[in-house]
Amino acid sequence: MRQLVGHLVVDAADRALGAHLARARADGYRLNINLLGEAVLGEREAASRVRRTIDLVGRPDVDYVSIKVSSLVSQISTWDTPGTLARVRRRLRPLYRAALEHGAFVNLDMEEYRDLELTLEVFTAILGEPEFASLEAGIVLQAYLPDAPAAFERLVAFATERVDAGGAPIKVRLVKGANLAMERVEADLHGWQQAPHVTKADTDATYVRILDRALTPEVARVARIGVAGHNLYHLALAHLLATRRGVTGAMDVEMLQGMAPAASRAVRDTVGSVLLYTPVVARGDFDVAISYLVRRLEENAAPENYLHQALTPGGETEAEARFLASIEEAATAPTAPRRDGTRPAPAPESVLVSFANAPDSDPAVTWVREAAEAALMAEPDLAVTAPELTSTAQVDAAVERARSLAGAWGTLPGRERALVLADVAERIEARRMDLLAVMAHEAGKTVAEADPEVSEAVDFARYYARAAAELGNGAGAEGGSSLEPWPVTLVTPPWNFPVAIAAGGVLAALAAGSAVVMKPSPSATRCGELVADLVRDALAGAGFDPDLLQVVRVPENEVGRHLIAHDGVDQVVLTGALETARLFAGWRVDRPGGPRVYAETSGKNAIIVTPSADLDLAVADVARSAFGHAGQKCSAASLVILVGSVGRSRRFHDQLLDSVRSLRVGVPDDLGTGMGPVVEPPSGKLLRVLTRLDRGESWALEPRQLTTQEIVGTWGSGAARWAGRLWTPGIRSGVRPGSWFHRTECFGPVLGVMRAETLEEAIEWQNAVAFGLTGGLHSLDPDEIALWLDWVEVGNAYLNRGITGAVVQRQPFGGWKGSVMGPGAKAGGPHYVPQLTRVAPHPGGSSGSSGAGSESLREAAEQMLAGTDVTNLPAEENTLRYRPVPRLLVRLSEHGSVADLEQVLAGARVLGVPEVRISLDRVHADARSGVGSLAVVVEDENELAARLPRLGDVRVRWLGGSGESAPPALWRAALAVEVGAGATIIDAECGSDARAELHRLVREQAVSRTRHRYGHLHP
Ligand SMILES: Cc1cc2nc3c(=O)[nH]c(=O)nc-3n(C[C@H](O)[C@H](O)[C@H](O)COP(=O)(O)OP(=O)(O)OC[C@H]3O[C@@H](n4cnc5c(N)ncnc54)[C@H](O)[C@@H]3O)c2cc1C
Repeated sequence: MRQLVGHLVVDAADRALGAHLARARADGYRLNINLLGEAVLGEREAASRVRRTIDLVGRPDVDYVSIKVSSLVSQISTWDTPGTLARVRRRLRPLYRAALEHGAFVNLDMEEYRDLELTLEVFTAILGEPEFASLEAGIVLQAYLPDAPAAFERLVAFATERVDAGGAPIKVRLVKGANLAMERVEADLHGWQQAPHVTKADTDATYVRILDRALTPEVARVARIGVAGHNLYHLALAHLLATRRGVTGAMDVEMLQGMAPAASRAVRDTVGSVLLYTPVVARGDFDVAISYLVRRLEENAAPENYLHQALTPGGETEAEARFLASIEEAATAPTAPRRDGTRPAPAPESVLVSFANAPDSDPAVTWVREAAEAALMAEPDLAVTAPELTSTAQVDAAVERARSLAGAWGTLPGRERALVLADVAERIEARRMDLLAVMAHEAGKTVAEADPEVSEAVDFARYYARAAAELGNGAGAEGGSSLEPWPVTLVTPPWNFPVAIAAGGVLAALAAGSAVVMKPSPSATRCGELVADLVRDALAGAGFDPDLLQVVRVPENEVGRHLIAHDGVDQVVLTGALETARLFAGWRVDRPGGPRVYAETSGKNAIIVTPSADLDLAVADVARSAFGHAGQKCSAASLVILVGSVGRSRRFHDQLLDSVRSLRVGVPDDLGTGMGPVVEPPSGKLLRVLTRLDRGESWALEPRQLTTQEIVGTWGSGAARWAGRLWTPGIRSGVRPGSWFHRTECFGPVLGVMRAETLEEAIEWQNAVAFGLTGGLHSLDPDEIALWLDWVEVGNAYLNRGITGAVVQRQPFGGWKGSVMGPGAKAGGPHYVPQLTRVAPHPGGSSGSSGAGSESLREAAEQMLAGTDVTNLPAEENTLRYRPVPRLLVRLSEHGSVADLEQVLAGARVLGVPEVRISLDRVHADARSGVGSLAVVVEDENELAARLPRLGDVRVRWLGGSGESAPPALWRAALAVEVGAGATIIDAECGSDARAELHRLVREQAVSRTRHRYGHLHP
């Protein structure tokens, strides 16, 4: 490899570099050295990169180096541009001093759009310091950005003032821009406009526009121009312009080392000299040259680009036409930034037919950053207004009020409910900044974590609006049966996503036709109230009674229990700990109709990294997934399982440590905070995790509580309220399979490291927990990916990306095993709203299901197993697919029909459910003859209940005929199953379309896979 690309990337070893420099100089070239290295994820690597660049500057044979801001510091926060600016300035000063001392030139390269403002600020701020007044230094502008002409003028104004004050001129290297592919991906994933122009013609025209302005005596006096590129037309134009206008002395032509050597020679011979941009890389880091090379080669292969055209027969004609057009259009190419922070407001009607995710706020836009900062600064009012119900009579009254309103709401056409939800989306969007502020001050969320949560809330409103519209009248229809609403749903959201999950639960229930009582989390009550206010306003605005959503607070005593267990509450939507879900279900088990607790519970999530992963990307994703929101997302990575050589890789180990150690722990209302507080001063399990190791474990990074003095000293006395809650992140090494940390959900900023010999072993460990929420694999090997996808037992499977941050519709969210209670339709997915309805009782008793034709049933099953991706994002696959439940027990109860049993068995067959057992009531004993070799037990409900706990994690399909539900004894027995959340009982009535039944025999799985590298899409 080194030999193959040695002409493009130079060995940084002393002698090799010296020889290369001498040869190039003898050939009439000057060299601009750029030190490549591993991704800068932490401060250790950033400091080392600067130190090694300073060493280069100290060499007598090096007089020109380039470096980009993202190599100067780690943890760049676009939200906190001023704070990042201060850190970059501190890092850059020693390099500029070395340049002054050795008479060398330092250039700031440009990469991502989000760094444009930061780089401009750094450059002008530091060169404005008196110490550097005599230093000539450079910066890059990318013509593919419509922002470039204005940025150029800003630099010219700065340079004019500097030169007039006796300082040195500056230099601007003009390029077209090499990050187009990544900019497109970023825009796609965030729902933003892409920052660069959308046509090459506009890029070329902007390049010419800036050349024309730069190559004038007025500008040349204060700013030298580096004309960089391989497009010989544009290089020739620059040369001619400079010659004619007498400014050749202020222009360099810059080309890439080894990219088009014949062209470089010709230019050198014409112009006199060429500055060659020369990446150098240490021997041990040679693999990192690959990303550089991939970019260069992909760029050159793009059919619109000059080098491709120059080498294609007939291509010259197009190149010439493009060149002529670029001159004609120079004055008219767009100059307004494409990313301006605005977002489209879809018409309510359009929300009902199509869905698009709400874009997150764009921190690259100045006014957006300023608005967020202003919101954080203005202390929001956190006073809680919801009534506290202190007696069971008050609880009864609230439930009665909900029931009294439910009928009219539930019989409305779904479309009318949908329009209310569409309005809620607008109201949430309009209050985005207020919500950010309340989330920061009450729930401890940083802006970077809170902003996507608001987007998610907006998404829930729009997505469930469409779901309501699709339900039609009442609660709609499913597979030929009509659905009807449950009158009252109780929604109990968590503190860790107090806005999005509150909105999601409430809006799904309203969409399904229920009246709702919401009990916000005591740790984030104001967040929940704010969401509820917006929903109530929308209800009132549309002429409905706002009490269709009531917000109540209840103490955790018999009053609270009375609400949860209330007969008048038909179903409970809970997001919280598994223990809470089991507790609630236990309280509700004797209700007619069963507990009906639909819960998204806990997780013990792991990311596997194999030797065929891109380790730079893996480290970044592991760190982000483990420590986002201080590890308190239920999707957070709690374990990383390193396979084979990755477990022994010094580089992986050091990079992970460097990255995590560099996380900026702080208060949530500081925009520069990378990791905020935990929800309350740790005690119990979390304290144990943060302070105690188990056998064989050691701290690779020991967590530490920030002292009150440190907190107050850094953020002022107001910050004392976060005391006890700010911890530095921890990494525990040597976690053993089967150990406490391996199996226990911890919900805090600690990552455990396990080392497996093979991928198979790693998957076994990943699955060997009671939960099955999220899981990840980092590997570029298709066979490893296929193996993992076959075996991993999680509801949300992530490939080559982080495992948190699920987005509505893209990655509907919800787990398997102990991570879910109830049938497990995913939040933000197509079955969530229907899950909150019920199949209407069939007038004649049993539904008498006729079943679909076996061919269409097979086709439907195949489609479900393969899954579909409705998002069509080029850079990310998002497939929602269905896996058959591993163990199915079909119970035909006294009033159930044999036809229903046959329908379920047909479904299980086409889906390939591996283990099917049957339990028949004595009146159906004869049905035994029709089920082939399947294991059958003839028994009554109590006998089944007695043996159910021994059957383990099993899906029970209870068939009891129209309007019947499973008996309390069975629900109680299901809860007694030790594994996970217990056995899952589904007692919904069978519809007349067997395809609908298939959904009751599967688990949903959302697979999200990164489909690009460095922006370039996989074929
Ligand atoms: C010495 C040197 C230093 C460089 N330093 C940097 C740097 O710091 N930062 C950086 O980003 N790049 C840098 N580059 C790369 C540069 O930005 C260009 O990507 C590269 O030179 C190709 O442009 P060209 O003018 O040679 O070729 P051309 O073929 O004329 O132009 C290709 C360029 O046009 C643009 N383009 C192509 N298709 C489209 C489209 N559909 N819509 C919009 N624009 C389009 C892209 O920018 C593409 O790279 C550097 C290049 C050189 C030679």
